[in-house]
Amino acid sequence: MSVSKLSSWGHYPYAPQTGREPGWRGSVQTALRDSSARFGTTLPFGNGRSYGDSCLAATDHVLMLRGLDRFIAANWKTGVVRAEAGVTLGEVLALAVPRGWMLPVTPGTQFVTLGGAVANDVHGKNHHVRGTFGRHVRRFSLLRSDCEPLECAPEENVEFYRATIGGLGLTGIVEWVELQLMPVESSRLATQTIPFGNLDEFLALSQEYDAQHEYGVAWIDCLGRGTSLGRGIYVSADHATDQRFDMPQRTVRSVPFAPPWSPVNRFTLKLFNEFYYRRAASKAGPGVVNCASYFYPLDSIRDWNRLYGRRGFQQYQFVVPDGTARDALHAFLDTIASTHAGSFLAVLKRCGPLISPGLLSFPMQGISLALDFPQHDTRNATLFARLDAIVREAGGRQYPAKDAHMSGPDFRAAYPAWQALEQLRDPALMSRFWQRTTH
Ligand SMILES: Cc1cc2nc3c(=O)[nH]c(=O)nc-3n(C[C@H](O)[C@H](O)[C@H](O)COP(=O)(O)OP(=O)(O)OC[C@H]3O[C@@H](n4cnc5c(N)ncnc54)[C@H](O)[C@@H]3O)c2cc1C
Repeated sequence: MSVSKLSSWGHYPYAPQTGREPGWRGSVQTALRDSSARFGTTLPFGNGRSYGDSCLAATDHVLMLRGLDRFIAANWKTGVVRAEAGVTLGEVLALAVPRGWMLPVTPGTQFVTLGGAVANDVHGKNHHVRGTFGRHVRRFSLLRSDCEPLECAPEENVEFYRATIGGLGLTGIVEWVELQLMPVESSRLATQTIPFGNLDEFLALSQEYDAQHEYGVAWIDCLGRGTSLGRGIYVSADHATDQRFDMPQRTVRSVPFAPPWSPVNRFTLKLFNEFYYRRAASKAGPGVVNCASYFYPLDSIRDWNRLYGRRGFQQYQFVVPDGTARDALHAFLDTIASTHAGSFLAVLKRCGPLISPGLLSFPMQGISLALDFPQHDTRNATLFARLDAIVREAGGRQYPAKDAHMSGPDFRAAYPAWQALEQLRDPALMSRFWQRTTH
């Protein structure tokens, strides 16, 4: 089957992807070889939840893997599940949660495929205790254009195992993934919501609470200034123990079309951030919520990315080490506030010390911040150049899964293992991101 007009989540850069959708595992390697013979290179495409250009093929011809959506094996005594790479995290949860199992690591949307989760080695609100997704991948099958299928595990084809986790889809096509799930006593979460007045309060709070709880994340109002710089809401959580196992289907609303101009501007941002802060602060204290609303609040509005208009938006996510985090975050937020840029969603979280097996994994021990900016060519270029300098000087790095602007020198300095990945790259695969930052 052929597919067209696929795009990344931020719609920037706008480069509609076309290609083939092999529906069966047996047809993937042939499709890979055919596509590369025809176009030179291609790229696996999961569900397009990466924001920038790491999921866009350099040739704009992809292999769409979402059709590989079957479960292969599941052992509900041990929580080990093997499924094709196009199965989404939501589909895993729909089977696993009623049986008392949970994903050990989940990003902020359940519409991510297993292949995409491996390729970006995604992380969640419990990085401080579980590390990244790749740490829970027991084994996977890798299809390359230049050899027979490879089974990769921590002790088998180790080079490819390490390079493929966080390998940005460049080492081959992940055909299926075997994952170790996490047992839970409830799918619901017992939460603690705590407003904080500024960044320093967040740093103290997250240090104390993350050490005691499975999950922790904060939303900050990036328009706050002076003594309110970095004010926000921190929510810690643990699985409840009430033996309730359901994945509630939340009412899904949708944004029907992308307006020509983004309604996200400094006035709507200010209003929204003020409203959100006050509303969340009024709910401070303990609570119990279902897992969909804690992990995936944005999934309840289908196509919310259209709110940024036809020009799309960029997410800027970076992590800085503990030692430099305080100063870097102050400088970062000051810069944003002084330009009145700002973001609806500024998500702040602490990353822990657990090392990923992945060569190019993003998290490092420290603090990560993610912000969304409507696309505006000159304004973003000027602002991002200043923000990049802050991240660089702090010894931090940006997240390729979200990126559409990072410079080649910044990427190569922050991810020195890129050359090892380049050595193992399947010559039939090339993304716009990799071409932009390494060639
Ligand atoms: C609302 C939202 C919240 C998010 N929150 C987080 C978060 O908290 N933490 C986080 O880490 N990320 C987060 N993300 C980013 C998202 O988790 C990653 O970008 C993820 O990799 C997207 O997966 P996908 O299936 O959509 O793959 P795509 O975006 O289509 O592709 C991602 C990469 O995977 C490769 N790939 C896809 N399928 C395969 C395959 N079968 N074999 C080999 N390579 C493959 C592609 O080539 C590409 O390099 C979020 C995204 C959104 C939209």
